[in-house]
Amino acid sequence: MVPNSSTPSLRLSDPVQFVKGIGPVRAQALEEVGVKTVEDLLYYFPRRYLDRRNVTPISGLRIGEAATVLARVVGQGIRYTRRRKFLQVTLTDESGTLACVWFHGIEWIQKRFHVGDRVAVHGKVEFYKHLQMVHPDFDLLELDEDPLNTGKIVPLYPGTAGLKAKGLDSRRFRRVVQACWDRLSSVSDHFSSDFRSQYGLPDLSETLKQIHAPDSEEWTDRARHRLKYDEHFFLQLLMALRRKALDDYPGRKFPELGPIVSEIYRSLPFQLTDAQVRVMRELRADFQSGRMMNRLLQGDVGSGKTVIALLAAAIVAGAEAQVAVMAPTEILAEQHYRAFRELTKDVDLPLELLTGSTPKTERAEILDALASRRVLLLVGTHALIQEDVAFGDLALIIVDEQHRFGVMQRGRLMEKGVYPHLLAMTATPIPRTLAITYHGDMDTSVLDEMPKNRGKVTTRVVEPDEIDIVYQLVRQEVDQGRQCFVIFPLISESETGDLKAAKEGFHHLRDEIFPSLEVGYIHGRMKGTEKEAVMEAFQAGKTHVLVSTTVVEVGIDVANATIMVVENAERFGLTQLHQLRGRIGRSLLGGHCLLIKRGGGDEAARRLAIMENISNGFEIADEDLKLRGPGELFGVRQHGFEKMRLANLVSDGTIIRAARKAAFSIINQDPNLSRREHQPIKQVLMQKYRHQLDFVTIS
Ligand code: ADP
Ligand code: MG
Repeated sequence: MVPNSSTPSLRLSDPVQFVKGIGPVRAQALEEVGVKTVEDLLYYFPRRYLDRRNVTPISGLRIGEAATVLARVVGQGIRYTRRRKFLQVTLTDESGTLACVWFHGIEWIQKRFHVGDRVAVHGKVEFYKHLQMVHPDFDLLELDEDPLNTGKIVPLYPGTAGLKAKGLDSRRFRRVVQACWDRLSSVSDHFSSDFRSQYGLPDLSETLKQIHAPDSEEWTDRARHRLKYDEHFFLQLLMALRRKALDDYPGRKFPELGPIVSEIYRSLPFQLTDAQVRVMRELRADFQSGRMMNRLLQGDVGSGKTVIALLAAAIVAGAEAQVAVMAPTEILAEQHYRAFRELTKDVDLPLELLTGSTPKTERAEILDALASRRVLLLVGTHALIQEDVAFGDLALIIVDEQHRFGVMQRGRLMEKGVYPHLLAMTATPIPRTLAITYHGDMDTSVLDEMPKNRGKVTTRVVEPDEIDIVYQLVRQEVDQGRQCFVIFPLISESETGDLKAAKEGFHHLRDEIFPSLEVGYIHGRMKGTEKEAVMEAFQAGKTHVLVSTTVVEVGIDVANATIMVVENAERFGLTQLHQLRGRIGRSLLGGHCLLIKRGGGDEAARRLAIMENISNGFEIADEDLKLRGPGELFGVRQHGFEKMRLANLVSDGTIIRAARKAAFSIINQDPNLSRREHQPIKQVLMQKYRHQLDFVTIS
């Protein structure tokens, strides 16, 4: 790889068009996948490799499983079913034949295959008259690239239709990347050689060469490991910087429990669980430390987080300072408000509720009392972060169901105090490896024990033809004085179709199925006062069956509700179903959760079966994570995780822990990254992670 002396050498920051083989048209297509510079191109990694380890002979294919096949094109043509036109390409290797079928993009795909071509296809194996793959991923290979004959490892790149249409298939990518290296001698490493040998990491230049053209199978693993390490390292460095900034903030001390806490404690209708007692001890240590509390309280649905929130609030309010409790929905805010009022009725803890539906004049009075510190505890929704909501002395912020809020929303509430303590609560159980990245700058407390007074909840997936059994069970429970939720999917509040279905479902249930029962209906688009009335009626036991969209998903606490019917359960995510199911079984009575499956095929059946078998939220979250990936689950984008290419927040536990240790140790010794050996690290941080540096001071 001697740089050609007649062409000027290439820099990482040069536009990708400087690379041989890329003209304006291809540059445009590359820009659409985020590749603008030479560096971007080097960081556009293969999605997969073809090597001896992972190619399956056609005779060894298993129906229903995904596989990569290396074969020769022996025929192709347009065919017709009764209704549709499709392209069929027939492949063969020594062991058998395989048909590949496309229903879309027929014209341009057909042009790419010629009889005699060597190709690699990857897809799920099906059987329909013969072995076939529908819409497989495909790559054309050069004659000397057959890993089975040449022992080479061939990288396959993530190709979009846009790229492939401009001729940027894997074969072209391999050439283009090679062309880069012809004019680029090396890439400087942000890690010193000492650091690399300490953590067993290969050099960056070599890594970037090997990831695109591995010399051996061992190198594919080493290169991936190094690049994953880099991704985790910089995220953890951000966490370390945030953590350092927080540790520097002064935290107001609240060393005493105070009389209000003791009084509330005495009047609790139950004993705290051991886990609750432990968490209270952790919170008290924060209040005594002189540092700002920055704590995440994790606890499965029903583990009793609300009472912790109240006790923490009472410690602060007992010292005459103010507390804000923010919940994601009006229903939940109202419920907290009612619960808090009930539990504080014998003590002097001035308490108010502020939501989007608080009437104007009342709102003005609350704001006035808030500014003059006549209200010490304010419960509410997003309404709390409005500009004109000003506290006299806000010292503690509690965010319930915190995963429902963005970092910015939390930040805006924090700005209303001077270094207020933060207690964030969530029932979305986050696997440990993910948590140290996602909440890597927070301390965590876990409620890992359920209150003792809980019965068993059984879950069953039900087919539509068994629906009568479901309704019968509902009647039985109601006859015994219990109550029932019927949930309809409403994926977004703007889905008018879904809302119509829920409303029709409600009419059907009220008028035809349960004419002798009281059936209520609630959805997110109702006015605040209406919602409140419906919830109050249900809570008071006046309504037997509550038909609802997912507005009851979070937090709702009605101990007498023992049965839940979820319509079109296949449309819900597992974590969401777990949250919903958490609305029942909140007492010794236990409960029944019936998931009505009206579609979604085998895949949905497999997913829903997980609900039948697992009741632990952490395990369900793990399964959900495997099925959906972290992005969708945790609103990962706002944390800058979109920079992740190879890193896997779930399965890279070992790398994450190593990278975290190294990053925290660097910031410990050199908080501003001012030492000479840390300059290159600082440079990468400033260049690539600029947008994530907002909460961090680094001089
Ligand atoms: P979550 O953690 O899901 O927010 P909640 O705080 O709503 O759970 O608590 C669920 C129910 O359990 C509430 O009715 C609450 O009063 C009750 N509860 C909380 N702690 C205990 C306890 N230690 N023993 C018995 N019941 C409890
Ligand atoms: Mg709750």
